[in-house]
Amino acid sequence: MADTKQFDVVVIGGGPGGYIAAIRAAQLGFNVACVDEWKNAKGGPAPGGTCTNVGCIPSKALLQSSEHYEQAHHHFADHGIQVEGLTMDVSKMLARKDTVVKQNNDGILYLFKKNKITFFHGRASFVKTDATGYELKVAGAAEESISAKHVIVATGSNARALPGTPFDEENILSNDGALRVGAVPKKLGLIGAGVIGLEMGSVWRRLGAEVTVLEGLPTFLGAVDEQIAKEAKKAFDKQGLKIELGVKVGEIKSGKDGVSIAYTTAKGEAQTLSVDKLIVSIGRVPNTIGLNAEAVGLKLDERGAIVVDDDCKTNLPNVWAVGDVVRGPMLAHKAEEEGVAVAERIAGQHGHVNFNTVPWVIYTSPEIAWVGQTEQQLKAAGRAYKAGTFPFLANGRARALGDTTGMVKFLADATTDEILGVHMVGPQVSELISEAVVAMEFKASAEDIARICHAHPSLSEATKEAALAVDKRTLNF
Ligand SMILES: Cc1cc2nc3c(=O)[nH]c(=O)nc-3n(C[C@H](O)[C@H](O)[C@H](O)COP(=O)(O)OP(=O)(O)OC[C@H]3O[C@@H](n4cnc5c(N)ncnc54)[C@H](O)[C@@H]3O)c2cc1C
Repeated sequence: MADTKQFDVVVIGGGPGGYIAAIRAAQLGFNVACVDEWKNAKGGPAPGGTCTNVGCIPSKALLQSSEHYEQAHHHFADHGIQVEGLTMDVSKMLARKDTVVKQNNDGILYLFKKNKITFFHGRASFVKTDATGYELKVAGAAEESISAKHVIVATGSNARALPGTPFDEENILSNDGALRVGAVPKKLGLIGAGVIGLEMGSVWRRLGAEVTVLEGLPTFLGAVDEQIAKEAKKAFDKQGLKIELGVKVGEIKSGKDGVSIAYTTAKGEAQTLSVDKLIVSIGRVPNTIGLNAEAVGLKLDERGAIVVDDDCKTNLPNVWAVGDVVRGPMLAHKAEEEGVAVAERIAGQHGHVNFNTVPWVIYTSPEIAWVGQTEQQLKAAGRAYKAGTFPFLANGRARALGDTTGMVKFLADATTDEILGVHMVGPQVSELISEAVVAMEFKASAEDIARICHAHPSLSEATKEAALAVDKRTLNF
């Protein structure tokens, strides 16, 4: 092994938590290294983590392609556009998705260069610690030894498998296999009606698969505001996405003819679902495989997550952890915010993440987005609130787009009018939610939004109108 290379900060993991932490630390003047082990199909480096390689980015690429197909198939005719002989070339769609992923991988490698960050392609593991810091081994094409005073662990998460049913990525698919299915399955099963399950189910349903989603919980999207979740469920039912709630999954058998899933319905009836492919999306497990956390005594909790305080400090001096490998929502933008905050804390600044204003988005059609508290949370907390809603049906731009599903909903404090939560289901709400995030970050009242001039005709007028609805004075409904 070559001599130990020394850095001020070593970041383990090049996903959104890690690569953003590395960039911010470099901007603050530190000598930074980032180690990431993800390999592309040719065995080369593919930084960007789950998000770039098998998560946020490829799923959105496939959602876009399948949405175009669905529009051409079912909705172009409304505009007078006739399409004959419409076909779907799945391999081309997958190749496009791979190109989008590669553009993002290359973009991150460029950013490392631009910010003078040393990138190591391989797996990092702790070797030892002494008064000067931490020594790590990088196992890549060659073995390297590196050391740093500060270490930021951003090793992400892996898909959780059902006990006794490992992923084979042929018939039983994690998010990874679900993004690589080579032909539209006739019948697709999904276990778990969470964000990832609904997005993946939507892609393959739009392309013609008959999709059945089995969910163990009795309520649909329990973390989402109930009124919004109900509206979304109505839309998914209409599209033909079959969602069965409150089921208990039993034996799963996989063979050359596909997969059969025995389950009990909410009413207690025994059923069997036979499908060509099964996607299991029942959550993700923090990943510390191969990190050799024991060598330095890095503390993990019972779920395998690295234990951190509110500032992302671990139990070890100058070792920090961010993103999916620690507590909190498994979201790329949460990981990024933590990465920035940690780099700033290392520099003696006061980095801060406001967990109350982390937005959530589900990129189905209709999209679902929210920030802050739901109506059921406010009720449970006994908080006095006012609610205002505005349907996209009454929004001129939504009518022109031909997509009037859904609504915007504001929840504001009954006395002060401070915005406590904003919930949306409908067209392009993944973009509309930012206004609500800004408003909540600045502790705005519903009236503040109601008094702001919004462009006409735009979907954002629904946000203004929902804010007006809090005081029962909508103008267009
Ligand atoms: C299908 C799907 C869709 C998603 N869509 C969204 C979305 O739309 N929006 C959103 O906000 N979130 C989404 N997510 C979640 C998002 O991908 C994660 O929250 C995010 O990637 C977490 O970032 P991270 O940096 O903590 O970890 P990761 O992105 O998992 O990156 C960790 C990196 O560390 C590397 N690594 C691990 N151990 C080592 C080691 N010992 N040495 C070297 N390298 C190591 C891994 O190879 C990986 O590259 C989605 C997830 C999935 C699965």
